[in-house]
Amino acid sequence: MRRTLDKAGRFFAAASGLTRRTERRPGRDLRVEAEISLAESYTGATRTFHYGRDVDCDACKGRGFDKVKTCAVCEGVGSLAASWMPAVRKRCPRCAAKGWIGERTCTPCEGTGRVRLSHTHTATVPEGTPDGARVRVKGQGEGGYQGGDAGDLIIKIRVAPEPGVRRDGDDLVRGLPVDFRAAALGGQADLALPDGKTITLRIPPWSTSGRRLRVVGRGFKDPHSDRRGDLFAVLRVDLPHESDADARSLTLRYLSAAAGSSDIRKDELRDELEAYFAARA
Ligand SMILES: [Zn+2]
Ligand SMILES: [Zn+2]
Repeated sequence: MRRTLDKAGRFFAAASGLTRRTERRPGRDLRVEAEISLAESYTGATRTFHYGRDVDCDACKGRGFDKVKTCAVCEGVGSLAASWMPAVRKRCPRCAAKGWIGERTCTPCEGTGRVRLSHTHTATVPEGTPDGARVRVKGQGEGGYQGGDAGDLIIKIRVAPEPGVRRDGDDLVRGLPVDFRAAALGGQADLALPDGKTITLRIPPWSTSGRRLRVVGRGFKDPHSDRRGDLFAVLRVDLPHESDADARSLTLRYLSAAAGSSDIRKDELRDELEAYFAARA
């Protein structure tokens, strides 16, 4: 006996959601990790990933059978009219609501409908990506099922720590060794940026260790906007190590004058410092 669905039957089948059930669904996201250097976090980087990626079998389009026939019970609709009320539909038990019956198991996928391919993808880690961030690459995860959308590749980023340099928000904070002469009398110091460029900073006179010099807009880029953080160079003044009492006294008077915690006259001390550096030049 063949039952043919009339127009109303098809309408109710659609309305009840019990039309032919497709197995179409999105693939899962895949997760990987990548370690980058602080310099790469500053400039951006690329990383190539090799991984196994499950996709629909090409031969059977993910069904697991390379030969199928339309289900004779539901005539490919996937649902049947309930005997007690024709407008109510129930799922077809013969084909599990798929509308088709597999006739021959697909050989390449051994009936699973899926095959694992070795896959290579080179991803871009955007400029400014911080430690712990997740970079999402659309469509590079597991393949979709029976025509569904592929999942994403999610890369968890670890930024390798580097001594003397740290990130604070989008600011770059790093130490800058300065010799005593440049710190005391004022001068210049070169500072290497993580991208390999060098900038020259003006060191104000009477500087001591811990003084922070700010360079606007040379920090990390915010990966979600065009805004950049600032660079803070934290001075580390290389004070003289000589054991002679004169050098020690000069250093101590310098530190208290620089801190403003004494009434030492700066112009007189400055003359003394200049003489001290001249004697060592
Ligand atoms: Zn197959
Ligand atoms: Zn059926």
